[in-house]
Amino acid sequence: MGLGVDLQCHVAVCGVDNNPTRLLASRTFRRLGVPVVFTAVSADAHHGYVFVQDVGGPCFGCVFPDAIDSDTYPCPGTPAIADILQLVGSVAVYAIDSCLMPRPRNWSYREVFLSDGFWDRSLRLEPKDGCLVCEMMSGPNGPNPQVVSPRTSDDSGV
Ligand SMILES: [Zn+2]
Repeated sequence: MGLGVDLQCHVAVCGVDNNPTRLLASRTFRRLGVPVVFTAVSADAHHGYVFVQDVGGPCFGCVFPDAIDSDTYPCPGTPAIADILQLVGSVAVYAIDSCLMPRPRNWSYREVFLSDGFWDRSLRLEPKDGCLVCEMMSGPNGPNPQVVSPRTSDDSGV
């Protein structure tokens, strides 16, 4: 982004290990009107998530308000663990497809837990009032996320 590369695209994917870059991607592609698929896994490789910043939907700062003041780079050199990466990767590919073609997706945030019996959770999020990133992008009346309808894996037939 800092190199001035043409960033026009139909969907962006952000799979970095730090919040400053995620927030930069959030703001940059929001400005361009491009959806962003964010992916992350925990350092212990038990948890991962995919968040889709749809055009007009909640931004990364809406969903992760604590990330706004974070300048940490949390990956401690942990080796990539194939099982969680493959699982999160498959959810991300589905999310990308849903941004490019009419594949149904009624969630914007989906997380998976390998160490838990309740291994999957999906949420449909909305912009959150008071999000500093949204306010920065569109002024004090800009959009911000709140959980609208938690969804379980039982209604995953969409
Ligand atoms: Zn926001």
